[in-house]
Amino acid sequence: MAAAFIDTARISVRAGKGGNGAVAFHREKYVAAGGPDGGDGGAGGDVVLQVDDNMSTLMDFRYKRKYVAENGADGQGSRRNGRGGKALVIRVPRGTLVRDAESNEIIKDMSDGEPFVLCRGGRGGWGNAHFATPTRQVPRFAKAGLDGEAHDVVLELKLLADVGLIGFPNVGKSTLLSVVSKAQPKIANYHFTTLFPNLGVVYVNEETSFVLADIPGIIEGASEGAGLGHDFLRHVDRCRLLVHVVDVSGSEGRDPVADFDAINAELAQWSPELAGRAQIVVANKLDIMADESLLDALRAHVEPLGYPLFALSAASHTGTRELVQAIAEQLAELPPVTVYEATYVPKPPVIEADEPLDIVCEDGTWYVTGRWLERLMGNVNFSDYESRMFFDKTLRDNGVFAQLEEQGVRDGDTVDLYGLQFEYQR
Ligand code: GDP
Ligand code: MG
Repeated sequence: MAAAFIDTARISVRAGKGGNGAVAFHREKYVAAGGPDGGDGGAGGDVVLQVDDNMSTLMDFRYKRKYVAENGADGQGSRRNGRGGKALVIRVPRGTLVRDAESNEIIKDMSDGEPFVLCRGGRGGWGNAHFATPTRQVPRFAKAGLDGEAHDVVLELKLLADVGLIGFPNVGKSTLLSVVSKAQPKIANYHFTTLFPNLGVVYVNEETSFVLADIPGIIEGASEGAGLGHDFLRHVDRCRLLVHVVDVSGSEGRDPVADFDAINAELAQWSPELAGRAQIVVANKLDIMADESLLDALRAHVEPLGYPLFALSAASHTGTRELVQAIAEQLAELPPVTVYEATYVPKPPVIEADEPLDIVCEDGTWYVTGRWLERLMGNVNFSDYESRMFFDKTLRDNGVFAQLEEQGVRDGDTVDLYGLQFEYQR
């Protein structure tokens, strides 16, 4: 039995490289050597994640695993800057957790509609027009663009729904969803019909609505990895309330009490916390119930355990309104849907500081360049305090300030690190 529902995927993403700066000189007739006029390289495109509510699985990521944003274009003469690379937007279903593939730490929970920049494009390099100073009239150097960030991540879909429908296949979960919401799940009289989760919004009244999820069928033995069930259980992880649908018609020869216990045992195996979550029991297919004792037995079994029971017929729309009302009342008492906090801590870049630095002083400004410094500059997020402290420490640990002092830097001089300028203070 091939499950077509894909709810985890590992992908590699890479932002675009920055374009190189140009070395170019202004040319005019009768002018022997014009000024430097090489433009800057464009920035590489970012890789951006965006929620798409038309997606309900990670199937698209099954075959395409590498995602690369566009590079920035190189700068050109006449101070023409290179075009920035286009951002690559990757669409994911709502509720997708993005984890670092190495540490499994959570980078982002894609639960709201905000786009999330997963990898930043590399900065474009400066063209030589930037380096013209009165004393350096003919700068023959420009800077290379920086690499974009790259990341191997695991996507994991954890649906975002207030209420999850659980129960054996064919008990009427999809029917119930279709009756109380506008969702149109597949309904068929055979097992394993639900291979994709379906979400529906249930409108209770003008102020109240909730999201109901029909989760692919749980089957017995699922938590030991048999059949379909195991993976699907993660989709109820976030549900605030579970609606446990049981077929009491006896039409398939099922024993409602045994079914109820089997599903709860599966939940407990997966997560005791989940098994303890609030549940409402739905005794379905009342319209074709042949033997009332099955319903009585189920009621006698679940009510002492503290679960409210609603007997109804999803197919004939009887009793569903009362159920919806009861769900809304319970939800009002329950905490909101869990949104996972990021736990991922970006690793500091590897610095091979044995590569030498180049220090040049022009008109009281000290220009410091070097390969490792350039890489470091590309990796530090200067809007973040911790990152700036890390940056400062790295410069100190690798002797940047010591070398500047050796060459005679004085308090009040300007230090320039790839365009980042600051006043030197001992
Ligand atoms: P799921 O596998 O739990 O999603 O079950 P479905 O919603 O696909 O329903 C399975 C079968 O049971 C379908 O043939 C439905 O028409 C039927 N069914 C669902 N609810 C009722 C009900 O209340 N009464 C009757 N008679 N049949 C129902
Ligand atoms: Mg179904």
